[in-house]
Amino acid sequence: MFEKVLIANRGEIALRIQRACREMGIKTVAVYSEADAEAKYVRLADESVCIGPAPSAKSYLHVPSIIAAAEVTDAEAIHPGYGFLSENAGFAERVENSGFVFIGPRPETIRLMGDKVSAKDAMKASGVPVVPGSEGALSEEDPDEWLRMARDVGYPVIIKAAGGGGGRGMRVVHTEAHLVQSVQLTQGEAASTFGNPMVYMEKFLGNPRHIEIQVLSDTHGNAIHLGERDCSMQRRHQKVLEEAPAPGLDPKLRNKIGERCAEACRKIGYRGAGTFEFLYEDGEFFFIEMNTRVQVEHPVTEFITGVDIVQESIRIAAGLPLANKQKDIQFRGHAIECRINAEDPATFMPSPGRISLYHAPGGPGVRVDSHVYQNYYVPSHYDSMIGKLITYGATREQAIARMRIALSEMIVEGIKTNIPLHQDLLVDQVVLEGGFSIHYLENKLGMNKH
Ligand code: ADP
Repeated sequence: MFEKVLIANRGEIALRIQRACREMGIKTVAVYSEADAEAKYVRLADESVCIGPAPSAKSYLHVPSIIAAAEVTDAEAIHPGYGFLSENAGFAERVENSGFVFIGPRPETIRLMGDKVSAKDAMKASGVPVVPGSEGALSEEDPDEWLRMARDVGYPVIIKAAGGGGGRGMRVVHTEAHLVQSVQLTQGEAASTFGNPMVYMEKFLGNPRHIEIQVLSDTHGNAIHLGERDCSMQRRHQKVLEEAPAPGLDPKLRNKIGERCAEACRKIGYRGAGTFEFLYEDGEFFFIEMNTRVQVEHPVTEFITGVDIVQESIRIAAGLPLANKQKDIQFRGHAIECRINAEDPATFMPSPGRISLYHAPGGPGVRVDSHVYQNYYVPSHYDSMIGKLITYGATREQAIARMRIALSEMIVEGIKTNIPLHQDLLVDQVVLEGGFSIHYLENKLGMNKH
């Protein structure tokens, strides 16, 4: 096992990874920007290195500073967390070429999955069901071909950038009259935003749920799935609340799609923890993309399986075989996660600033993954998530009841948070029933997109 790991991230996930390392007897190196000098994860790390000023481009995204920090501290491996450089194949390559272990998939795998067209092709070839659509990317200048394809696929269709991410670079087209212009607009946007003009076409599903499968795959040819998470509660393609298992999903269907994902991991030689994201409609799964890193919502899976996903990712990187076989994985109870953001609950505008009063909730089945504390200053430079509140119960009802109590116990003053939004959601009849679509929250909020 490694003796020392550098964590190339900040906030709650830096702390989460640090805790996993500590439990495994691994020393940790924190890296931080000038805006994070007072952060809890910096204080609690064995060593810490300032890697630059507040803007991410000059710190958390600045590869030479991170590599230099690993060199001066003699770290053996680098855990990228999520966001920042976690899905950057060039970074993974630099890490490995500099003599460190990258805790994540091989750079080739990150590259394959980073291009949505090649990812979809690879998944289709591995037997994972994908959204019907164009075979590969659309040719760059052949409107007749685009029109033919859209007729085959059937309207409405969605045009998506191969290099897209973060919910950007997508356009829904309802009628033939708008197709050509929409493809051209998306190409232009894709070129300017992602540096890659390639776009592809998919059938636009009207009312799907977002259900994703967690996998673990080692370097000895073993791969397992840890079941699914339902992340349909979204606003502007950003997840707000997640749960596991997905309400009403037939365990047979879970095992079937989970096994397909595990098999795909074996076929592509996947290494580490990963997530297959699907849209789910009328009992069918349609692959949309794979995330080659730890997810924000990993704790709900940890609660219902008892597997520590972060520790497993470190063990895999160290060359150890998976601790569990598929038959050892049992799904017990229900878990829910609320993302707590420093934002106005009505306008969703970020609300950085000093936290004047802070009390974390507790009690049976309550987990708080957060890096904040009383008097902590929430910087304006990074995303607004200040923590995650996760509850577990024997049943979904119990997990929800515990979440309501936990939210009412949680005190964050001095900044605005979305706690009131979560409180509204957890008394909403549709939410209580479960199984709502990805459009539910935006409809409820009166936003009408698509
Ligand atoms: P990103 O990488 O930008 O998050 P995804 O491919 O994961 O892009 O898609 C993001 C979201 O866009 C999905 O969660 C879903 O809400 C919507 N979406 C994408 N593809 C489709 C589709 N074929 N039909 C309906 N909605 C879609």
